[in-house]
Amino acid sequence: MATDEESSGLVQYRCEMCNAPYPLGADDVISTCPYCGYTFTVGGSVMKEHLLLSNKLAEDEVKTVVADWIRFAASKSVGTRFTREIEIGTPSLQWIPIFRVNAQCDTYHFGADQKGSGNNKRWEKVEARDSQQTTEWVLARRHAATFGIQELIESLDDSGTQAFDIKQTGQAPVLNSEIGEDDAPIRARHLKSERDRADLNKKMTKLLDYRLDMTADACTYVHAPYWLVRYEHRGGTFRVAVSGATGRVVLGELPVTKRYRVKNWLLSFFMLIGSALLFQGTPYVTYAIFAGGSSDGDVALIPIAMVAIGAILFFMAYVFVGKALGYEIELTADAKEREEGFSFTDSIKGLEERIR
Ligand SMILES: [Zn+2]
Repeated sequence: MATDEESSGLVQYRCEMCNAPYPLGADDVISTCPYCGYTFTVGGSVMKEHLLLSNKLAEDEVKTVVADWIRFAASKSVGTRFTREIEIGTPSLQWIPIFRVNAQCDTYHFGADQKGSGNNKRWEKVEARDSQQTTEWVLARRHAATFGIQELIESLDDSGTQAFDIKQTGQAPVLNSEIGEDDAPIRARHLKSERDRADLNKKMTKLLDYRLDMTADACTYVHAPYWLVRYEHRGGTFRVAVSGATGRVVLGELPVTKRYRVKNWLLSFFMLIGSALLFQGTPYVTYAIFAGGSSDGDVALIPIAMVAIGAILFFMAYVFVGKALGYEIELTADAKEREEGFSFTDSIKGLEERIR
């Protein structure tokens, strides 16, 4: 959280429009005067187009949204009992600088899908071209260290944009851009390409080529309202981020409760037992197959599958222990746990491909 508040290299600056003095960060590329809203490129000219996504929520409404979300998310994960002992703090609002990049995208991808099983295994070619108009939202900060900012950006759309007006910001801090207007389309292209590749890799067995031709038609500077709320539970502090543009929670933390801990210890325990049984059984099964002199090639895959499933169960046991030992969990707007670097469904999919 501290990264945004780092005040290294602040210089005093005087607004060209209203003459008010205010500090300018060393990394600031586009700055907005906190008094009159005059927005300009540092060392350059005024920003011609500057929008804001209007903020739908007042402070007390944010609290209600957060309280409702905590109850909803808790009912889907750690249990709602702890919600009787929470105290929600005062929400704080910040305006986050973002570039909206409208672009024409021509994409091409080429890959292969594995079909059939055993001796009928075959590869099928997958090839497609696509041409479409897209909107990419690019964070105009160097680091997305602030809690829930990535989720906030993913939730943005065009509804509710209006011309930027400092009177609409409720005297909340308006953050300056740390990237230039010219960098925004480059970042937008990178974002789209990364996302497309990830999607395609999920859809097909092997992605061999992906190309993206992106021509930016428009690049607009926008400020979006971001609310951060902290709440306390038994001496611990937890965070919830709310988008003022949609009026919804984008990411939140819940304390790990005793019930949740026990559930995850048990899950972990069963996974370990399962994996131990599979590892122990593999030599016997292998022996039985070879002693039986089976000629079917597919049968030989059974021990491999056993070892693979055993390994996955072992790894999942480790993940569940991590959850049981954790202090808090992060959940999205729909109360889905944010998974870090490991997805159960993805590993099952990978396994299917290997033994097919
Ligand atoms: Zn000013």
